[in-house]
Amino acid sequence: MDYDTYSSGAVELAVGLANTQYDDPRRLAEFLSGHREWFARRTRLTLSAEERETVADLGRLVRAVVEADDEAAVIDRLNELLCCADVHPRMTNHDGTLHVHYSRDGAPAVEQLSTTVAVGMAMLVTRYGWDRLGICDAQDCQDVFVDTSRNNSRRFCSETCASRASVAAYRARQRMGAAAEWSTPGHAQI
Ligand SMILES: [Zn+2]
Ligand SMILES: [Zn+2]
Repeated sequence: MDYDTYSSGAVELAVGLANTQYDDPRRLAEFLSGHREWFARRTRLTLSAEERETVADLGRLVRAVVEADDEAAVIDRLNELLCCADVHPRMTNHDGTLHVHYSRDGAPAVEQLSTTVAVGMAMLVTRYGWDRLGICDAQDCQDVFVDTSRNNSRRFCSETCASRASVAAYRARQRMGAAAEWSTPGHAQI
């Protein structure tokens, strides 16, 4: 799928937020400074406690959209997410390519983030379908991801989780094999 636009970047921002430990102020600050390029220049990224709570709610809402398991629930949750948006589209070429920003110039960080994330998610679901959003299948990982594979078959958030899961599956098969061998006649049961 053609997945290399400003709005797909906005979805990566949403996914990144949902996968951040946003209840931890230090982690949240790292997330914001790590995504500095998404904020207008001179945006203050140091948040008040109240603003941090708003961002945490936003992260929870993004995850709720991903967790929804039918289209009606996705629509409801996306509409809830869109309530956090304050959309003021603006043309820009600040990075050398023409694109539309969803948020007004001079908006506080939280407003920019909420608006970009909400519209990005809504655009993705509209264009590619809600089943492109998934949660990692690996044990001990709850990260959300966007499936950009041709046949929509992705199961893991990252290469790391995919290889961790395949090692675990291999070991499980080996254990099953060993157990089967022990239960065959000729082996003493222990
Ligand atoms: Zn831009
Ligand atoms: Zn994972």
